[in-house]
Amino acid sequence: METLELDGARGEGGGQILRTALSLSMITGTPFRIERIRAGRKKPGLLRQHLTAVNAATEICGAEVSGAEPGSQTLHFKPGRIRGGDYRFAIGTAGSCTLVLQTLLPALWFADCESMLQVSGGTHNPAAPPADFLIRSWLPLLRTMGVDMDIELLRHGFYPAGGGEIRARVAPLAEWRPLHLEERGALLSTRAIGVVAGVPGDVAKRELERTSAQLGPLDEEIRMLPAREGPGNVLLIELAYQQVCEIVSAHGERGRPAVAVADSAAREARHYRDSGAAVGEHLADQLLLPLALAGQGSFTTHVLSPHLHTNREVIEKFLPVSFGISENKGMARVFVEES
Ligand code: ATP
Repeated sequence: METLELDGARGEGGGQILRTALSLSMITGTPFRIERIRAGRKKPGLLRQHLTAVNAATEICGAEVSGAEPGSQTLHFKPGRIRGGDYRFAIGTAGSCTLVLQTLLPALWFADCESMLQVSGGTHNPAAPPADFLIRSWLPLLRTMGVDMDIELLRHGFYPAGGGEIRARVAPLAEWRPLHLEERGALLSTRAIGVVAGVPGDVAKRELERTSAQLGPLDEEIRMLPAREGPGNVLLIELAYQQVCEIVSAHGERGRPAVAVADSAAREARHYRDSGAAVGEHLADQLLLPLALAGQGSFTTHVLSPHLHTNREVIEKFLPVSFGISENKGMARVFVEES
């Protein structure tokens, strides 16, 4: 099969280009070569998270690979057959477990048998889906699409200590059910969760107070973790609707007041809540791949991020699908069809 040539500097020039290419290369059997990996980032090339994804993908499908080294900006990946099984991968830093999982899980939907996959590293990282988002936002939609999978957070891990663990059980996919997520449905609940590990519980309390002052009455939860899982603090705001559950998040860090953490998450929650769109910014770019694999589907969103456009471009190179986007008064409808 002809090798696809990819440019890692396209669009927002981040790690998603590589991860989507790895997933789709495994699934379609198409080899690819990528240059200028993460050229748009301060520290370009393969970091531990990306390297773990490459090495894990290599193991899962018996690929032939060159360029899989720390800092490498070029990679050649020739996939073999996807093999289900029992896999464990350690990122070794606080690199995001969820991004590694989102690279590997789609391939295991097409494996020959059920798999168990465990990844250790960061579970709640800035600029990546928190484990809670993976489990309560992303996973239920995939189940609706016919994916038979469970995801469990075994231990939290924050930057810089890492040490978190997530486990997934994945069964081979029987048949896709198309997802058309045009409406979010009625609001079922709004919940704010202050997660603290090795950080005073008072921080979470102040985040929750400020969040409810900003968003109105909501259910509140403080998740006080053992200090050895930290230090770390994240605020999650969960908006559960009939058709979709969105989770926005903001991370605490030394010198950042609890009020600022809450304001940042509340702003994003309000933006989504007031938009009326079914899907928020992050879920939007993460739904493109499953929708494209299903060969059809659609959703409405209020933010068309550079991630979404870049991901769409990579997917259209690997699969015989095309995406369409129609925009009207601050709302966009994204749809995919076979081309
Ligand atoms: P880099 O660009 O440094 O390589 P990266 O490898 O972490 O970073 P990106 O290309 O930035 O990857 O992709 C990040 C992914 O994480 C995107 O799919 C994005 O939607 C998702 N993401 C970022 N922040 C959140 C969040 N708060 N909630 C859910 N998903 C998020």
